[in-house]
Amino acid sequence: MPRRKRSSKKEESGRKKRTRSRTRKKWTLDMKTVVPEVSKRVIESLGLDYIGIDIDSIKDLIEDIVSSIAEQRATKPSIDSLVSNIIRNKQLILKAIAAKLLQREDLTPEQVEFIVSYAPEIAGRAAPKLYPLAKKLGLDHVIDTLRYLWVRYGRPTPVECPYCGFRAVTPDLRCAVCGAQVSERDLKERIGFQELLEELAGRSPVAALEAVSAGFVLYDGERLWPPSAARSLSFYIEIYLNRSERELLERAARARITG
Ligand SMILES: [Zn+2]
Repeated sequence: MPRRKRSSKKEESGRKKRTRSRTRKKWTLDMKTVVPEVSKRVIESLGLDYIGIDIDSIKDLIEDIVSSIAEQRATKPSIDSLVSNIIRNKQLILKAIAAKLLQREDLTPEQVEFIVSYAPEIAGRAAPKLYPLAKKLGLDHVIDTLRYLWVRYGRPTPVECPYCGFRAVTPDLRCAVCGAQVSERDLKERIGFQELLEELAGRSPVAALEAVSAGFVLYDGERLWPPSAARSLSFYIEIYLNRSERELLERAARARITG
C-alpha cells in the first residue's frame, strides 16, 4: 500500500508540473521593494557611492536587469541571488552606469575617471564632451588617456589640433574634440610647415611648382602634396601659401631642377 501511495503522489506532482509549464508563473516579484533593496546592495558591493551613485540614479537600470533575470527563472529569485548575479557581470553594469553618467551635464572628477576606466569605448567616442570637463577639473592624466581612447574608439583624423592635442582637425580646419576653428598660422607652426615645403620641393620639384602656381598645397597629416594629388588622398587639408612660402617653394624647386 505505501508504494501505491507514493506513486500516486508522483503522478499528482507530474500533473502539477505540466499544468504549471503551460500557465503563467505562479510567483511575481514585488519590484517596489526588490529593486531599491537590490540597488542599495549593488551600490555597496561595487563601492558606487564613492562616485555619487545613489539608489535613484540606478533603479531603472536595476529594474531592467532584475526583470530579465526573473524572466529566465523557473523559481522566484532571492534578493541574494539577484545581487550576486549582477555582481558576477559587473563589467556590464559598470559600463551601463558610465553611459548613464555621460548623460549628465556636469560630472565630478571621480565620475570622469570612472567613465574613462570602466567604459573606455564610450569614453573614446565621447571625448568631445569629456575633454572640456576634464580640462575644467584639471585632470591632465585623464586627458592623456582620452587622447589615446579617441584614436582607438573615436573618429580621429591624421592631424593633431594645435590647441588640445587630439588628432581631430577636420578638412574645414575645425577641431572635432575642442571645437576650435584652427588658424592656418597655428596649424603651420604645429606641423613644421617650412620643413614640409622643403621636403616637397626635394621630393618633386614639378609638384612644388604646381603648388606655387595654384597658391595652395594639400596636407595629409604627414606630407605635402600638389592640388592634383587630391584624387589619390583619402584625407587632406588645403593649406594656402603666403608670399614668402611661395617664394621659398619656388626657389627650392628651381634649385633642385637646375642643380
Ligand atoms: Zn582641438
